[in-house]
Amino acid sequence: MNLEKYLNGLSPEKRDVLLGNDTSDALHGAFTNKRVVHAGLMGDSIAGEKQQESYELALKKAADQMRQHVVYIHIPFCQTKCLYCGFYQNASKQEVEDKYVEALIAEIKAETSSRQIKDTVIDCVFLGGGTPTSLSPENAGKLLGTIKESFTLSAGCEFTLEGRIHDLVPEKIDVWLANGVNRISLGVQSFNTKLRQRIGRIDTREEVLKRLALLKSYDVTVIVDLIFGLPGQTREMWLEDVKTLAEADVDGMDLYQLNIFPGGALAKAVENGTVPPCADIAGQADMYVASRDYLLDQGVERLSLCHWRRSKRERSLYNTMAKAGADVYAFGCGAGGHFGGVVWMNHRSLADYNAVQEKGLKPIMMAGHSAATKLGMIGDKIISDLEKGFVDYRGLMVMDHRMTELERVLSLWCSRGLMQADLGVYRLTKAGEFWYVSLSQSLVECAQVLWDEDEADMPVEEINGKTNDALDEVLAEMMPESTAESRENILKKMPVAVRMMLRKSSKDTLKTMLASMPAAMRDKMLSSLE
Ligand code: SF4
Repeated sequence: MNLEKYLNGLSPEKRDVLLGNDTSDALHGAFTNKRVVHAGLMGDSIAGEKQQESYELALKKAADQMRQHVVYIHIPFCQTKCLYCGFYQNASKQEVEDKYVEALIAEIKAETSSRQIKDTVIDCVFLGGGTPTSLSPENAGKLLGTIKESFTLSAGCEFTLEGRIHDLVPEKIDVWLANGVNRISLGVQSFNTKLRQRIGRIDTREEVLKRLALLKSYDVTVIVDLIFGLPGQTREMWLEDVKTLAEADVDGMDLYQLNIFPGGALAKAVENGTVPPCADIAGQADMYVASRDYLLDQGVERLSLCHWRRSKRERSLYNTMAKAGADVYAFGCGAGGHFGGVVWMNHRSLADYNAVQEKGLKPIMMAGHSAATKLGMIGDKIISDLEKGFVDYRGLMVMDHRMTELERVLSLWCSRGLMQADLGVYRLTKAGEFWYVSLSQSLVECAQVLWDEDEADMPVEEINGKTNDALDEVLAEMMPESTAESRENILKKMPVAVRMMLRKSSKDTLKTMLASMPAAMRDKMLSSLE
């Protein structure tokens, strides 16, 4: 496929979305917005009636010994909802939690004797959410004990529990550590008491520091997440948070850019003046550079563009392996994983999850075939390398000759100050670092265009308009005000990877996919397409 022909066939707007803006101020304006929250490739979806069968077939295959293997468990409960969150699922309630943990344990046990999982060495376990630390000590003990008994964990297995400062009490910590947890990742988001309360966090700065010190008195790796761009947060407030964290006794830190979901609680609170505005994208870029430069000056080591470590006990294996294409065995309401050629996501609604799980089936909400194996590897390489700040162009060419054409895009980004070429590797500049998720998404989409022979000989107009009637019907139902023309425009603006996946999906699959997306995310997708 000729990438030049594809790019030249795009409308100027679509080209700017894909390649970014032609600007001399790349840090503040390389793209109009962050393109996606996480970059990724998509394969073809699997029709609803075939999903269970495809999943069971994957379980019957032997594990791919060329890959690493990780386990992800999702806990869909939080004590309170944070203002900025687009992923909140359910409020914690003891009887609901008890029932859920039983169902989750049954889901795990139903698969651990399969050919795929039995005897497969697991390199990392990650309990995410939601707030896994919110589980009662009894439920945490039952669940963690099941994980330890059911999987073959490697000797150095990284076993992470994600959660909130408020749960750091001895009666919980003792249970976690007695059952194999060796790494705790905490969403602090800010140390500033006023700012914390503004976004729905419970504890004061003093309480946060006290509880962190308590946790560090145990033998466990401690990681803290902070977010930049929160409502009313200035660059100085952000730097103060970073300095506090750099001086605190923690092993690692994740610094994340705030994502504002249109129509979500935060966007509404800003709109009606309940909270002050958030930094715009240029303000976020300045915050990113300020913290990056400060931490490098302090000699803090970077493991990736977002993740830093102060001690060697922090390895960040789950994040690294999952991004580099490890097989992910996933369990729980809203969990998603991939192995054996299948990629899937479990139901996000607790009622649907329980109903399917009670029938003894995998509670699948949607599923697809992983992108063609080699293309999947190329996509994984692009994403995991860019997380570390570079594109290994020579490596991509060796993997597949068609990737040679990516140079066209990489050179363009060099000329715009986002990258610098060096010995066949394209290294991100500071500006490129800030925009790395958008660059990753665009590059995997270009790789997918180069790969797909099917699309290769198709006129660009046809690729852009190509979809199925089912998708048009579903959009018409969701957007009764829309016209055939406006829907066609929506479809034309979809990223090529999404379009390629959606066009082969049945009406039922499309409806389930759209209905089960978090409302804020769905609204963002549809609004950004209008
Ligand atoms: S604890 Fe995490 S998942 Fe729960 S509402 Fe807050 S940000 Fe969202």
